[in-house]
Amino acid sequence: MRQYGHFIDGAFVRQNAGPVFESLNPYTGQAWAELQEGTQADVDDAVRAATRAQSGWWKLNGAARAEVLHRIADVIAEHAAELSVFESTDNGKIVRETRGQMQFAARLFRFFAGYCDKIYGQTIPMDQTSIFDFTVREPFGVVGLITAWNSPITLLCNKLPAALAAGNTVVVKPSEHASVSTLELCKLFKKAGLPEGVVNVVTGGAAVGNAIVTHPQIAKISFTGSPEVGAKIAGAAGALLKPVTLELGGKSANIVFDDADIEAATVGALAGIFAATGQTCVAGSRLLVQRGIKDELISRLVDRAGQIRMGDPLDESSEMGTAANKPQFDRIMDRIAKARDGGAKLVAGGGRGQGVDLHTGLFIQPTIFDDVTNDMEIAQEEVFGPVLSVIAFDTEEEAVQIANDTPYGLATGVWTTDLSRSMRLVPQLKSGVIWVNTYRVVAAQAPFGGVKESGYGRERGEQGLLEYTQTKNVMIDWSGQIKDPFAIKN
Ligand code: NAD
Repeated sequence: MRQYGHFIDGAFVRQNAGPVFESLNPYTGQAWAELQEGTQADVDDAVRAATRAQSGWWKLNGAARAEVLHRIADVIAEHAAELSVFESTDNGKIVRETRGQMQFAARLFRFFAGYCDKIYGQTIPMDQTSIFDFTVREPFGVVGLITAWNSPITLLCNKLPAALAAGNTVVVKPSEHASVSTLELCKLFKKAGLPEGVVNVVTGGAAVGNAIVTHPQIAKISFTGSPEVGAKIAGAAGALLKPVTLELGGKSANIVFDDADIEAATVGALAGIFAATGQTCVAGSRLLVQRGIKDELISRLVDRAGQIRMGDPLDESSEMGTAANKPQFDRIMDRIAKARDGGAKLVAGGGRGQGVDLHTGLFIQPTIFDDVTNDMEIAQEEVFGPVLSVIAFDTEEEAVQIANDTPYGLATGVWTTDLSRSMRLVPQLKSGVIWVNTYRVVAAQAPFGGVKESGYGRERGEQGLLEYTQTKNVMIDWSGQIKDPFAIKN
């Protein structure tokens, strides 16, 4: 059993000191790591360390901060294989995918390293020409970062390099279901020479998260997780007038028109929902298909879904891993049962994964429901699992109406060979991300985030950086004249 303390002020602390919790390997069903349940005192210590470190970190010039971020990128890339094994062991995602995610984390550090010495303000021409006006972009100070279990390193690295590039220091809380990779990353921060206290991690559950959100010395929160918890965090932070960035859930539509390249759409639909066992916020969980091609597309999907190889997440040949934890497994199975009861027609999967090497793991078969209507629970509520709902439509207008008809607005896929149609749809789709003839592409340069109940604020790209800065405006009157507002002019 591996044992971890919190990471505070550059060191692992309080190992074995207080209440602990176990992290379960969802493939073996066995506990494999023991972590500390944080307390208010741990959060206070972490915030004190981050506060002490912040002015020094910001006063380093941009080039020096960039060097540190590049060194972090180097060590992440060097250690990608072992980090991915930690993460896959903790959350059951196949190692082929988590290894790629580690390389992407390194890419994000490099991308934001490039911004460190390019965080510009503006000079602003004034009506009063003797006043020189300029802006500077400053860090918030100490920022709280709270993440979910499905991709701990990716979710953290959507936030962390941007926050650090802008001169903030941070207190991180990973999910209690998958904290190990985040703590292992801290060992690499030490190796890369990140100054002590710049990144601090306190492990634990909702109470630790709440202590971070409500801490008076934490100036901003960035959260990735469920809409329910996002709403609580926004409420608690709002009461303190503290800004938040929220990356929440989705019920994304993947829309296939009858002029689409059907093979490309098949692969896109499969990758959209079954990659990462459907445990991604952008899962294309509603497949909207134009009626004329529905039967053919479903037959291709059912055929391909049946061939997906479930297996040990650490085995290179596995194509789909487990549900990440038992509560999530139960939630997915419950949603499947309710969809059947609610009249959706099960055409693939629907059960626990069966097989000699699957019996201990939380495997769920790739599942497809046909004859779903958009008012069904399965079409409205996020499953966060390998469950695809197929909904037929006739016209472009109807497709848009159905796509927009959920409380969410994270991502939408459009499959068409008609360029005019794709351009027509862009302004109509209420979604923070639109993919045309592709799905699940991410890039360090491209801003990512949702509308409606999928959240607000953006990660990655320049907007992702600006989330961690505040604008200060400065006016300098260089005229040397006294402008007395009380002097009466004749
Ligand atoms: P969750 O909301 O249950 O937990 C997320 C984090 O919040 C965890 O670290 C948890 O301990 C913490 N937390 C719980 N209650 C808290 C409270 N009251 N105050 C502060 N922190 C608290 O989410 P989850 O089950 O870990 O993750 C699944 C959800 O995350 C899904 O809805 C998924 O769509 C979403 N997600 C969104 C994105 C995105 O970028 N939009 C990416 C991945 C996952």
